[in-house]
Amino acid sequence: MQEKPKNISVNIVVEFVHTVLCDVQAFNESFMDEEVDPILVPAAPSYVEALKTKQYDKENSKEESCSVCYQEFLMAEDVTLMPCSHIFHNNCIGRWLEMTNTCPMCRFTMPTFV
Ligand SMILES: [Zn+2]
Ligand SMILES: [Zn+2]
Repeated sequence: MQEKPKNISVNIVVEFVHTVLCDVQAFNESFMDEEVDPILVPAAPSYVEALKTKQYDKENSKEESCSVCYQEFLMAEDVTLMPCSHIFHNNCIGRWLEMTNTCPMCRFTMPTFV
């Protein structure tokens, strides 16, 4: 166990340089995205709780994986159906909507606290 705080900042710098060198374009885009993003507002819990859940059915679903965790859906796995018809793992979208009221895929806006 090393407890040198210095290592942490070095890691961040290395990661940063790595990002810049590997994908300057993508980095710039995400940086610009951050500038125009509105302030994150959590979705109203009552609306989150009211979202429909269903069992994942590969044949009738456009999505093959969850856009929050990037894991593939398993057959008959419980998923949450957003009003925009996008689906996510129950836990994933639950945590996501605690941070922001927009769909991770299409930015559909969920109602926030009144
Ligand atoms: Zn997920
Ligand atoms: Zn959506």
